[in-house]
Amino acid sequence: MSMKERPAFPARVQGVGERPKPRPVATAIAQPQGIGLDSGAVRQRMVDKLMGLGVRDPAVLEAMASVERHRFVDSALANQAYEDTSLPIGLGQTISKPSVVARMAELLRNGSSDKLGRVLEIGTGCGYQAAVLSQLSSEVYSMERLRGLHDKARANLRTLFLRNVHLLFGDGMLGFPQGAPYAGIIAAAGGEAIPPAWIEQLAVGGRLVAPVAGSGGAGQQVLMVVDKTPQGLRQTVLEAVHFVPLKSGFA
Ligand code: SAH
Repeated sequence: MSMKERPAFPARVQGVGERPKPRPVATAIAQPQGIGLDSGAVRQRMVDKLMGLGVRDPAVLEAMASVERHRFVDSALANQAYEDTSLPIGLGQTISKPSVVARMAELLRNGSSDKLGRVLEIGTGCGYQAAVLSQLSSEVYSMERLRGLHDKARANLRTLFLRNVHLLFGDGMLGFPQGAPYAGIIAAAGGEAIPPAWIEQLAVGGRLVAPVAGSGGAGQQVLMVVDKTPQGLRQTVLEAVHFVPLKSGFA
């Protein structure tokens, strides 16, 4: 068998008359698992699992299918990138689980058939969620308090040429008033309460999705949705979640 026809590993038995699918040789050789990480099929498998977990919004599913999560994690962890698990990204922080990113994006979009307007993300981390949000909104302002991760996200996103993602280094608890008002605000780190600046910077008709300390204490968190309506704020407490802590200041 020539190198070009090298089958995926573990080799699948080819049916009668079935032609081997052409695949990039470099991918076939470099990747230890059945399908190369560059193949859309690995992400589609992840998307199928997300659908099984109840994610329905087609725009969110499409964004999750298009952003290559393995490009945002250390190469030693790349083969776990499409499992539904959070992974370390350095400086004690983690990339959120795909199901959590999808769930929060779905909540943020709230069933809309249009793209969101400007979105503020607190906690850029490695930049994965910012890349997903870039597919779903007109502009993404993403803040990170740790210089090392801000730089890492910049490097990760550079090759994707996402012109609508703006990475900001600073304390996200203060929000980013220059970009306000936001159609959506999403936090990837949870504090004791929702910082007042976020509510101020949310547009009327906008929605905030964030983890926040639950009433049970002991570091327990719940997912909170806040809608800013012309009549005032409407808060909804959803399921228990587990995010890294929201910290003030920057380092
Ligand atoms: N969305 C990220 C998840 C990163 S984890 C991703 O896709 O990888 C959450 C991040 O929030 C951490 O990097 C942490 O440093 C950051 N963070 C915590 N408190 C913050 C604050 N006050 N301002 C900005 N970022 C903060």
